[in-house]
Amino acid sequence: MILIKNATILTLLGDEVIYGGEILIQDSTIQYAGPPKSVYENVDMVIDASNHIAMPGFVNSHTHLAMTLMRGIADDIPLQKWLNDIIFPIEDKLTEEDVYFGTLLALIESIRTGTTTVSDFYMFPHVSAKALGESGLRGNIGVAYASKPLVSDKLILERAQEIFDKFNEMDNGRIIVSLAPHAPYTCSQNLLKETGVLARKLGAVIQIHLHETEKEVLDYKEHYGQTPIEYLDSVGFFDNKVIASHCVWVSENDLRILENRHVGVASNPQSNLKLGSGIPPIDKFLKHNLAVSIGTDGASSNNNLSVLEDMRLLSLIAKGVTRNPENISAPELLRIATLQGSLNLGFENVGRLKEGYKADIIIIDASKANMIPSTNPHSLVAYSMYPEDVDTVIVDGKILMKDRILLTIDEEFVKNKVKEKFIKISKLLNKNKKNSTLD
Ligand SMILES: [Zn+2]
Repeated sequence: MILIKNATILTLLGDEVIYGGEILIQDSTIQYAGPPKSVYENVDMVIDASNHIAMPGFVNSHTHLAMTLMRGIADDIPLQKWLNDIIFPIEDKLTEEDVYFGTLLALIESIRTGTTTVSDFYMFPHVSAKALGESGLRGNIGVAYASKPLVSDKLILERAQEIFDKFNEMDNGRIIVSLAPHAPYTCSQNLLKETGVLARKLGAVIQIHLHETEKEVLDYKEHYGQTPIEYLDSVGFFDNKVIASHCVWVSENDLRILENRHVGVASNPQSNLKLGSGIPPIDKFLKHNLAVSIGTDGASSNNNLSVLEDMRLLSLIAKGVTRNPENISAPELLRIATLQGSLNLGFENVGRLKEGYKADIIIIDASKANMIPSTNPHSLVAYSMYPEDVDTVIVDGKILMKDRILLTIDEEFVKNKVKEKFIKISKLLNKNKKNSTLD
């Protein structure tokens, strides 16, 4: 058993704060979180959290982990050019080993910035499962696919099911698998419809990119006479548990559908702004009571994986665009960045510090200059802390980082490996550039 004592605890049950509190962890679960109790027996480790804040870890509800491999190679260009001219041609050449080390690098950054649960949405999902398994983080691995000219929809979905059957509920339910059709502009209508049917059969969560750019929605409407969200609704896709990333360009009717169908929305404000896709309509999401959570998107369109940064930006957009600072209080913002993310990804009992919940906990140093005075801990986390103020990270009752030292991943080894990989990627990039100048 692990005992955390003398902590300022944000339980995320409303705006509750417990000062000088204790958290007792048995195996993967919180056995007690509250004011100090009497002496415990069988405690293996005591963590003194004086001058520290303990709260549930952040949840990154949309990202592409291994895209750390392409961090910084294609900035300052629009989404379709970014995807078609740079990202897709390089991804065609990536090996399983490339993706393994790119994923581990992302997991290092995630742990270091206080994230305890990640989503993934990339090629080689079995490689993500291996990396996630080793890291100790909690994760929902999306089996990513799109339509391909010479591969039938049936075969694509059979392969996805194989991965689901093999890895879903791995490591005591710490890792789950979802179906991840890329987007309505890369998947045929039939593939999307059949994804809905398969998800119902498996009880799987679906991750998908929806309504990221205005052009994507206009093109779809012109071609099919309805928006992607309207189409998906018409074929029962949303009868499943769906988490839709982006939703930047949504009509009132689209919003009503998302609301009525209880679709989770993973908002990625930094990526949307950086790619010039638009400003996510956070105020409209809130008006429609949508289940909004935070995503960073991949490290090649953000370009970091700090949920804290996107969380803060989401709040500022909600306030600034409407000129209403009352939009999203600090405790509500923290709930969005933790509990709502885990619910959207399909995890139960994750995201609160309460008896019976999973022990996914971050311990934040509140003694630094930016964290003083310490009158309002929700506000400090929401508006003042830096990601590197996270000292200790615990997931499923296991310590992954203690006093900023990683315990599950050989950080230097992984960083050096990715630097090596990047030399190969740079060569591919230069080759592509040469080819495109010959065109
Ligand atoms: Zn994405």
